Amino acid sequence: MSDKPERFIDDEGLRLDGRRVDEIRPMKVEMGVLSRADGSCYLEWGNNKVLAAVYGPRELHPRRMQKPNEVLVRYKYNMASFSVEDRIRPGPSRRSTEISKVSGEAFEPVVMTQYYPGAVIDVFAEVLQADAGTRTAAINAATLALADAGIPMKGLVSACAVGKVDGQLVLDLNKPEDNYGQADLPVAMTQDGEITLLQMDGHLTPEELEEGLEMVKKGCQQILEIQREALVSRYGNEDEEGEEAE
Ligand code: ADP
Repeated sequence: MSDKPERFIDDEGLRLDGRRVDEIRPMKVEMGVLSRADGSCYLEWGNNKVLAAVYGPRELHPRRMQKPNEVLVRYKYNMASFSVEDRIRPGPSRRSTEISKVSGEAFEPVVMTQYYPGAVIDVFAEVLQADAGTRTAAINAATLALADAGIPMKGLVSACAVGKVDGQLVLDLNKPEDNYGQADLPVAMTQDGEITLLQMDGHLTPEELEEGLEMVKKGCQQILEIQREALVSRYGNEDEEGEEAE
């Protein structure tokens, strides 16, 4: 029996979880939660719970995998077997391999890879509780874990999905919207708005795609603010300190 809701948006324009169409789920982040990692971040986004850990830069073995002029960034996305209602078989799957690949590539334009040639930076993104949007949640946590590890980056990466339900565009899909909606478009972008990941499930018209990208950009800007606040609360605001020192 399908648990598909009859409607996703009510007459007041509110979604099943009470959000407006352009509203993201509440997000909470905490950096530096793992003492053995070089950088880490725990992130909750709605009912998603993810943990990102960064190890490195460190020497890469076997040496034949080393890049002579830059650092290799490896990204591993994993869903814990207990992260969804039915147990997930542990180990890599086609889905996790694909998500790891595209998520790692989402950081290529920001990580300054010319430092640490021959070394490797490992990013592990572990989904502890999944409720739609885990790849974007993992990217949002991973960028803070990279910053926490002191990896030189041109800026932060923020990620969010936009989709379509009841013929309307909605930001940051929840589980029923993701399962039964007409489209799901996860996007990651740099703080300058350069898109570094874009995937799509379902159908959108070219006009909807354009409008959806505008919507997701605003979502990413809100997430960037949350990420910045997390950085400032962990490391302080350099500008303010500079002013005080004067
Ligand atoms: P994302 O989590 O990035 O939105 P998907 O669209 O593939 O990725 O998955 C949507 C949601 O479906 C996940 O967040 C999770 O709640 C659920 N899900 C994904 N894979 C599985 C699985 N193998 N078993 C059970 N639920 C899953």
